[in-house]
Amino acid sequence: MNAEAPAASHDLDLSREELVRYSRHILLPQVGEAGQQKLKKSRVLLVGAGGLGSPVALYLAAAGVGTLGLVDFDTVDLSNLQRQIIHGSGAIGTPKIDSARERLRDVNPNVVVESYDARLTSGNALEIAKGYDLIIDGTDNFATRYLVNDTSVLLGIPNVYGSVYRFEGQASVFGAPNGPCYRCLFRDPPPPDLVPSCAEGGVLGVVPGLIGTIQATEAIKMLLGLGDTLVGKLLTVDVMTMSFRSLLIRKDPECPACGTHEITELIDYDEYCAGIGSHSTQRIEEIEPARLAERLGRGERLEIIDVREPYEWAIGHIPGARLVPLSRIADEIPRLDKRRETILYCKVGARSLAAAQQLAKAGMTDVRNLAGGILRWIDEVDPTMSRY
Ligand SMILES: [Zn+2]
Repeated sequence: MNAEAPAASHDLDLSREELVRYSRHILLPQVGEAGQQKLKKSRVLLVGAGGLGSPVALYLAAAGVGTLGLVDFDTVDLSNLQRQIIHGSGAIGTPKIDSARERLRDVNPNVVVESYDARLTSGNALEIAKGYDLIIDGTDNFATRYLVNDTSVLLGIPNVYGSVYRFEGQASVFGAPNGPCYRCLFRDPPPPDLVPSCAEGGVLGVVPGLIGTIQATEAIKMLLGLGDTLVGKLLTVDVMTMSFRSLLIRKDPECPACGTHEITELIDYDEYCAGIGSHSTQRIEEIEPARLAERLGRGERLEIIDVREPYEWAIGHIPGARLVPLSRIADEIPRLDKRRETILYCKVGARSLAAAQQLAKAGMTDVRNLAGGILRWIDEVDPTMSRY
């Protein structure tokens, strides 16, 4: 009896060991032996072996995805262990991909792990990603997220997106045939100094676990062609209220990646972002939500600009405001009255601060940022509006 021996690599038939290991899958009529064989021949690239990457890698390995590519350049740090559950205390100081590979070998020795001890860059992304069926975005920064998105669109490989911040998370599937990509929603990266990373911003450890598990689920569904996926939908999760919302998102014909195809090669977003963010930043006055509500209540004529994206505006906005997404604020400047008091807002205040700085730089003298964005407005002025 040789139940422990893995199947020969050229053979997609399942060994006796695999039939037992995956029996709870094979019992599902929607998966069966054929589905399990499909998983076995699948190749999934996972960018980032951190908070999101941990549950994704563990579940995809356990599920029997035949080949898992892992890209990460970081080493395991004590402060990672609160959420990056693929790594243990004994791995502190070692490369994350080594620690992850060890753990995955124990979870399922049938899985081939291809590891890339590198930072994903414009120089290596296409080379690394080609030949995979699916990319999983487990990154924690905008520069890599745009790189993953553009790589996915250029190669025609869907990417399963996830992101987390404090008590909230999002997931979607981008770059699928006829589906939108990340740039259809957020055309350009925000300046890096305005966006706290996971490490700086804090995150409840289970939130990446929850979102990563959703990404792993979507990956398996995509590989097997099962159910309704998150293509064309953005799932947002708020664990404080334990609310899940699914927003419909559309492919933007003007999208530079998947619409007009003007992005034909990858861009080094680290430098690009640093270029925007490191210029002299001006101090912008804030206005408290209650104060703005009081002034609006008195009938003051204020120019209020919402710099979020159209789908966020559709969830709810401040009465009397108008929508000019951050990516289009520069084009709007010539149409603005430079002396009129102008108040900007977004979801939490970072994008509107970036917009306010652009207006101040263009010579506008009376620009204010709504403190805490629309989320604080909802908390303090209008709790009937939907949070997201
Ligand atoms: Zn797009």
